[in-house]
Amino acid sequence: VLAVTYDHSRREATIGGYEAESGAAPQLDRGRAGIAALVGMAGRDVAFVPSASAALAMLLDVWPLEAGDEVACLPGEYGPSLTAFSQRRLRIRELPVDQLGRVDLDALGAHLASHPPALVHLTQVPSHRGIAQPAAEVCGVCRSRGIPLVVDAAQALGQVDAASGADVVYGTSRKWLSGPRGVGFVAVRPPTASKLRIPVDEGVDVRSEPSPVQWLERSEGHVAGRLGLSSAVDEVLAAGAAQVHERLAALGRLTRTALDGIGGWRVVEPYDEPTATTTLVAPTGVDVIGTRTRLRVAHGILTSGIDRARAPREMTEPVLRVSPHLGTTVADVQALATALQG
Ligand SMILES: *Cc1c(COP(=O)(O)O)cnc(C)c1O
Repeated sequence: VLAVTYDHSRREATIGGYEAESGAAPQLDRGRAGIAALVGMAGRDVAFVPSASAALAMLLDVWPLEAGDEVACLPGEYGPSLTAFSQRRLRIRELPVDQLGRVDLDALGAHLASHPPALVHLTQVPSHRGIAQPAAEVCGVCRSRGIPLVVDAAQALGQVDAASGADVVYGTSRKWLSGPRGVGFVAVRPPTASKLRIPVDEGVDVRSEPSPVQWLERSEGHVAGRLGLSSAVDEVLAAGAAQVHERLAALGRLTRTALDGIGGWRVVEPYDEPTATTTLVAPTGVDVIGTRTRLRVAHGILTSGIDRARAPREMTEPVLRVSPHLGTTVADVQALATALQG
């Protein structure tokens, strides 16, 4: 990924950005097709965008919504997405969940029937808790009610199966795909794409306009990053996405069993949740952000301190997040357990 990103930047410097980009067109097509394979769509349904947040902002700008319309999501929705909804004066409706914040599928159909929202926005794996939401099942319920489903796969892609059947899936390069920062993607199924309110520039012949989804991919962008993301996706596909997901789930199980109860820290997820993301609630009187800093400075172990702003409607206290990736070893997890104790 690093070599691909570097090589393209060098070509931009030597032959010029536009020339370098047109020479890379086949790899960019392959990248869109790779992302499409992971989300269960076609390459032409995929656009590169600057980040997952940019994808949501761009979508909301062209989605047929009016101020006052309702967006339904889970109480554990990502804080910045809630802000994006309220900034556009959309009302937020919470869908029914169980104690862990997992969508209650039995109650969902009746809920959507009695309060049909303009769209359902589902964060498939939240950033504050390693729960994999049953996105394919949610998609089935939404489809049977004719309600569009938009899935935030920023924490899901590369970690769990993100081919849910949703109308829109968007995500980012820099998380579980380990691609470069500054690039993400949005994938929109054609029937939904045809409903987007894409502005037509003055003086442009609409017959030669690209498809609505391609419009979301602005001509100016981080092309080296798009190629880096494409290469990261290629690596996942070459390794076998299912094998990557299985291995990450095994690392999650290993991490949760090794850490639960250590020094009074408590694991939030069920041990067998098919994700690697592990979150820990601090023992009384222990500061999460201070612990995060201590682990990094004194032990060279990188974790994340997750504050309430990540999921303000669900979180009551900060948690410490551990995100073991494919390179994490049993010894690494044991070192963390020892460091947490001290
Ligand atoms: C990180 C994250 C985002 C935003 O991704 P960016 O690419 O940084 O904009 C959106 N949703 C969730 C659940 C995230 O964890």
